[in-house]
Amino acid sequence: MINIDEIWNNTLDELSKLMQVVSFEVWVQKLEPVCVYQNKLVLCSPTKTAKKTVETRYSDVISEVLTAVNPQLEGVVFITDDQKDDYIKLQDSVLDGAGFIVKDPTPAGPVANPFLEKYTFDTFVQGKSNAYAFAAAKSVAANPGGAYNPLFIYSGVGLGKTHLLHAIGNYMVKSSKLRILYVNSETMINDIISNMTNKPSNQESNAFREKYRNCDVLMVDDIQFLSGKTATQEAFFFIFNDLYQQNKQIILTSDKAPKDIPTLEERLKTRFASGLTVDIQIPDLETRVAILRSKAAQQEFNLSDEVAFFIAENSTTNVREMEGLLNKIIFFSSLTNHTIDTQTLAQEALQDSLNDKKEVIDATDIVNTVAQYYKVSVQDLFGPKRLKQIVEPRMIAIYLINELLSMPLAAIGSMFGNRDHTTIMHARDKISDDIRTNTKIKIVVADIKNMLLKR
Ligand code: ADP
Ligand code: MG
Repeated sequence: MINIDEIWNNTLDELSKLMQVVSFEVWVQKLEPVCVYQNKLVLCSPTKTAKKTVETRYSDVISEVLTAVNPQLEGVVFITDDQKDDYIKLQDSVLDGAGFIVKDPTPAGPVANPFLEKYTFDTFVQGKSNAYAFAAAKSVAANPGGAYNPLFIYSGVGLGKTHLLHAIGNYMVKSSKLRILYVNSETMINDIISNMTNKPSNQESNAFREKYRNCDVLMVDDIQFLSGKTATQEAFFFIFNDLYQQNKQIILTSDKAPKDIPTLEERLKTRFASGLTVDIQIPDLETRVAILRSKAAQQEFNLSDEVAFFIAENSTTNVREMEGLLNKIIFFSSLTNHTIDTQTLAQEALQDSLNDKKEVIDATDIVNTVAQYYKVSVQDLFGPKRLKQIVEPRMIAIYLINELLSMPLAAIGSMFGNRDHTTIMHARDKISDDIRTNTKIKIVVADIKNMLLKR
């Protein structure tokens, strides 16, 4: 078993003797060992710029020292924070015995805890947008195989599905002796395919059976990738039924509700939706700020309110991207030894990222997207018409502007042809009630939010 923290620390010791103090401290010491992928040590850089610099200037020396200290490794790969999850998934061999590379080997159990330490219920910030998903995840963690089986969590990208799965896992590892299998759907698809190719007679190999049927809890992340894979779906259907009948807890995540996953067999859609299905919505401004504060605290960074609001207002509503902006601020602060605590400094630090792509969602984007979705004109949404086919999208636009941008009602009123703030309030409340009681409106709002995310 390889302990990558130890490997990296030994490498750092050697590097510190070879390199200039400043370069070492600024560029190398801040790298974080993530995992081993194809015999290379994966090192995470705090930002894209830092990654580029280490890659061009220091990759050779790091590689040389690393392989000298640890001949079983062949080199290094540099990644940024947003690729971390992918690499961790790729080194998925933690659970199937092959390769077996873990960050923190637990001496007691035969299987190391594959769940990221930082993704727990405690570090998950609750808000209106994720309250149901959070409650459901907690309930399943405490009572697996109980009332909510399967638990199906869906949302747009970067809104916390994987975080919740790891939180459930971390909780169960601590509180029970359950055998938990956590796989992303790509790994599972590969396992199923290689099992089929090796055993044409439809029989499962022992290793496959051991892995998929001998678990008490099965978690499959991003199950939407089963879409279109008929043979895999068929195999998964049997695994699912087998576990389900034994009251084994199944937890699935996806970017869509079961019924909306294209080319997924009807019987699987029905199975997936037969327990509890919960979604995570885009967090509102307040929750976004709370998430930033929590992430900053985890890194012991003193985040000023001004900067927290600046990031929350200027990033898309995707939490992962928002975190990227925060990390950039933290990195710049440490690089310059100046705390970035004002909007002006933050703006400077984030200039590139904010220019790269329009990260801001503003009221115009929302109105345009709603108009596009309903195939009505923007003028009509702002205008006086009271036709049903205009009133509904207008109210949804108002609701979304208020929710996502926390824009004051009076300001929204003047934007919508000088409507009174009570009219705006009525529209907002009507839609927020409808979302709870009317499935159609709920889906419409979720679709529009997804369109906004994917702009
Ligand atoms: P998904 O799997 O839905 O694409 P992730 O679970 O990978 O999203 O989340 C992306 C990042 O955002 C992670 O770093 C996660 O910790 C963070 N995140 C998302 N929602 C929250 C939340 N409510 N509280 C704290 N962190 C969150
Ligand atoms: Mg995910």
